[in-house]
Amino acid sequence: MHTTDNVDPAELAKFSELAHRWWDTESEFRPLHQINPLRLAWIQERVPMTGKRVLDVGCGGGILADAMARQGADVLGIDLATKALKVAQLHALEAQTPRVQYREVSAEALAAEQPASFDVVTCMEMLEHVPDPSSVVRACATMVKPGGHVFFSTLNRNPKSFLFAIVGAEYVLNLLPRGTHEYAKFIRPSELASYARSAGLDLLETKGLEYNPFTRRYWLSRNTSVNYMLAFQKT
Ligand code: SAH
Repeated sequence: MHTTDNVDPAELAKFSELAHRWWDTESEFRPLHQINPLRLAWIQERVPMTGKRVLDVGCGGGILADAMARQGADVLGIDLATKALKVAQLHALEAQTPRVQYREVSAEALAAEQPASFDVVTCMEMLEHVPDPSSVVRACATMVKPGGHVFFSTLNRNPKSFLFAIVGAEYVLNLLPRGTHEYAKFIRPSELASYARSAGLDLLETKGLEYNPFTRRYWLSRNTSVNYMLAFQKT
């Protein structure tokens, strides 16, 4: 596969179309805003951000990239949705976020350019939108320095995740626009761990992200049946 082929243009169009609402905490991106402090704290338990060189793959409007930079990291956010990146850049300018940069480049292309260059690579809520997630995992593993950390999050694939992440979130609660997620692209933790293992990453921890639709709150747990995160270290 050519390195630029691992893209679904319809996915990028979806995220570009919504781009102007990225920093509206009551918009379609509310879930990302809500989980952001949780995932940031989880990442920082393992790797304090101060002084770290961090890459955020599929950064979108920069919700996590911006937060990591505010914690003292030197952050590069990459994505292929042009409008989302523009919004990220504009936000950094307006909010005067220090040490954050954005670039329109694929993970695979950047991996060819900058191998073993980052202390931390994050890739959150993105793998379920690409045709070949294992190729992105490989690129992330190539870009992290030996001993460095890689963090992924995505959606599990089972009847419960179908019910919660698609039927519940898109059709009942209207948390997300219909068509945001495609069940077939969801990834089991074992599959993600196996892509990562083949790329030279050791699994450190598995974490679940749970949501209560009545209280509208998220929390971290051991339940990985719907949304989950995996932490790896490069050997
Ligand atoms: N990681 C961010 C945004 C998640 S939304 C966060 O968690 O806050 C998913 C993002 O993946 C969108 O910004 C979308 O444009 C991006 N994306 C989808 N396919 C991609 C690809 N092939 N390469 C890079 N980014 C991609």
